[in-house]
Amino acid sequence: MSFVTEFKALPLAALVQRARTASTQAARASLEITSVSLEDFAHLISPAGADLLESLAWRSQRMTQQRFGKVMRLFAPLYLSNECINNCQYCGFSRDNPILR
Ligand code: SF4
Repeated sequence: MSFVTEFKALPLAALVQRARTASTQAARASLEITSVSLEDFAHLISPAGADLLESLAWRSQRMTQQRFGKVMRLFAPLYLSNECINNCQYCGFSRDNPILR
């Protein structure tokens, strides 16, 4: 299954609705939970979660350091041509961009 297929299968409208209507209590509960679901993510980015940004940032930092340690990674794409099969909207090389290949 491709990323696009997976993405299109997400219940996006329901998640947006959940984010719009989440309570502060739900956002706090999602911040404390160990394994965050999509519903928890919706709570965390909801307007009700605005006051939890500092705590959310600390949790994010802890998780990042747990998984990757204190490192800085740099990625440098190496382009051999300007042809690409993908269609990233921000990229000048994207498939549908009518440039000379
Ligand atoms: S469209 Fe651009 S950013 Fe997207 S994969 Fe291709 S080269 Fe990379």
